[in-house]
Amino acid sequence: MNALPPALDKLATLLSRLPGVGKRSAMRWAFHILGEPSTYAESLARALGELFEHVGFCERCHALAEDALCAVCQDGTRERTVCVVESAQDVIAIEQTGSYHGLYHVLHGVLAPLKGVGPDKLRLDGFEARLRDVDAVEVILATSTDVEGEATALYLGQRLGPTGVAVTRIATGIPMGGDLEYLDQSTLARALAGRRAMD
Ligand SMILES: [Zn+2]
Repeated sequence: MNALPPALDKLATLLSRLPGVGKRSAMRWAFHILGEPSTYAESLARALGELFEHVGFCERCHALAEDALCAVCQDGTRERTVCVVESAQDVIAIEQTGSYHGLYHVLHGVLAPLKGVGPDKLRLDGFEARLRDVDAVEVILATSTDVEGEATALYLGQRLGPTGVAVTRIATGIPMGGDLEYLDQSTLARALAGRRAMD
């Protein structure tokens, strides 16, 4: 006999799909939520509902945004440098270093030919036009230092060659294979400061 109420089982199953959460943790969380005052579950449900209602992606740089444009794109004081990153989380990690004052462009992925991910799957439509619009003086390629991140940087370096905009790559100091979002702030700030021109 299954003594588990279906509603609790359903919640645990949904929670178990989160990264790093196994079935046992999911069940523990579900029981924990049940043990809290019902206002907690209500707030949680409301926050989840509002996520898709209020958080979207900036139409210009594809970072997280609550309006059509993200806070960075709305800030007229940012420098005319465009930092290209893989994910919206990378923007948050770089902003937290407090050492970068330019703009961003979020690819929402990396090139992975073996998985069928070509340039058409990345958010690159109109990228060159955007560089002209903001009169960019430099593009910093801040993709990861794993094989796919390097391949993406190489591709972009070649693609942006004709634009005449200076193209740089973040420095090592990022461990090979490292994902930006997991770096500590000083390593990330150093990698940005030590960027070098693409060959
Ligand atoms: Zn933006």
